[in-house]
Amino acid sequence: MNQEEILALDAKHLWHPYSSFSKPTPVLSVASAQGVRLELTDGRKLIDGMSSWWSTIHGYNHPVLNQAIIDQSQKMSHVMFGGLTHEPAVTLGKKLVDITCANLQHVFLADSGSVAVEVAIKMALQYCFAQGQTQKTKLLTARNGYYGDTFGGMAVCDPVNGMHEMFTGVLPQHIFAEAPQTLTESGEEVIWKPEFINDFKTKLEQNHKQIAAVIIEPMVQNAGGMRFYHVEYLQAVRQLCDQYDVLLILDEIATGFGRTGTLFAYEQANIQPDILTVGKALTGGTMTLAATLTSRKVVDGIEADGKGLLMHGPTFMGNPLACSVANASIELLLSSPWQDRVKAISAQLKAELSLCIQLDCVKEVRVKGAIGVVELHDPLDTTWSQPRFTEKGVWLRPFGKLVYLMPAYIMESAELRVLTSAIYDVLSEWQKEKNACK
Ligand SMILES: *Cc1c(COP(=O)(O)O)cnc(C)c1O
Repeated sequence: MNQEEILALDAKHLWHPYSSFSKPTPVLSVASAQGVRLELTDGRKLIDGMSSWWSTIHGYNHPVLNQAIIDQSQKMSHVMFGGLTHEPAVTLGKKLVDITCANLQHVFLADSGSVAVEVAIKMALQYCFAQGQTQKTKLLTARNGYYGDTFGGMAVCDPVNGMHEMFTGVLPQHIFAEAPQTLTESGEEVIWKPEFINDFKTKLEQNHKQIAAVIIEPMVQNAGGMRFYHVEYLQAVRQLCDQYDVLLILDEIATGFGRTGTLFAYEQANIQPDILTVGKALTGGTMTLAATLTSRKVVDGIEADGKGLLMHGPTFMGNPLACSVANASIELLLSSPWQDRVKAISAQLKAELSLCIQLDCVKEVRVKGAIGVVELHDPLDTTWSQPRFTEKGVWLRPFGKLVYLMPAYIMESAELRVLTSAIYDVLSEWQKEKNACK
């Protein structure tokens, strides 16, 4: 097929994430991807600033990951996980237990991040129900979160920002505390104050008898606003969960595997969750796979009713190809100087993106680990900006007021420079030409 044929068939038949057929946002046709570059069917090459939504931390078409898939495919691509097991799955289970905190000992292999969140919620509810606490049906979370697109996850996404506002009427009603205070405000550092946790504390105090678990993304709220918050907030959340005997679910689907500078973001707060979800970078962005980990305490609680069955079991649970490539990806990460790479990316993002603050349309620039965010005063018109980014040889996908970068850890400094310059140049052009910014 040539590019026109691909794009015509795409426009005719395929939905994209959050897309419409009558008002389609343009899509680019990708022929292949190598390292940090996407290769389009028209021959253009774009440096990828998105890591395909946090996932391709080692870059594309990595020979080690490819080999893991090839080797496993010659043994078995899939086998059901009901009543059967295999080495790739048990190796992955062991690896995840080894690299996460000591209390997490039990692993559910899910097929996507959203499913991992559903499983986490079920674990928490079953834990309470099996112990006779059937009134504990609610979750407590903070505003500005994002936990996936399935119904359980949607119900804890930000009710307004969370892309699911229209479903509010059919979703279970959970409890929302104010969003955590961010580390910076209009570029000024905000010093932690204990009262930042007050709203969360009050909601927990008042509702703990109905609350099965707290769910939150540690240190960084991702798709719900790219917001970085204080370590003290997370520590206070853990302490309050202990005080009121409520389980703590941490969603590290975006932050896991080194993105914020530590292997998992919760390490920065020196706490342990009761339930942890991981996904996205788990397979280095090659295949869909996620996992939900929990502790002996939760497993024992679930089993307190004498049945003890965790009620979930997807068809492709523990897919051997996905597990094999996850094992290869974790080994590749741990044997690489990933901390140094993330630090170097972080320093460069800080140095180069900070130039954007000179632009009147820019409200704030913030960086944490290998995440760089330029927040604007007003939403960027992406149909205007997209072709301009492409012209400059980069792939970025701004969202509302947020232009952000989460490069592969293997990105060279010269390549990152192309991305940060493109952001500066396109935003200055936006400011001049459209005069859309204040
Ligand atoms: C992406 C994401 C999810 C959902 O994962 P999918 O694989 O898209 O279903 C859940 N939680 C967080 C924090 C995420 O970033």
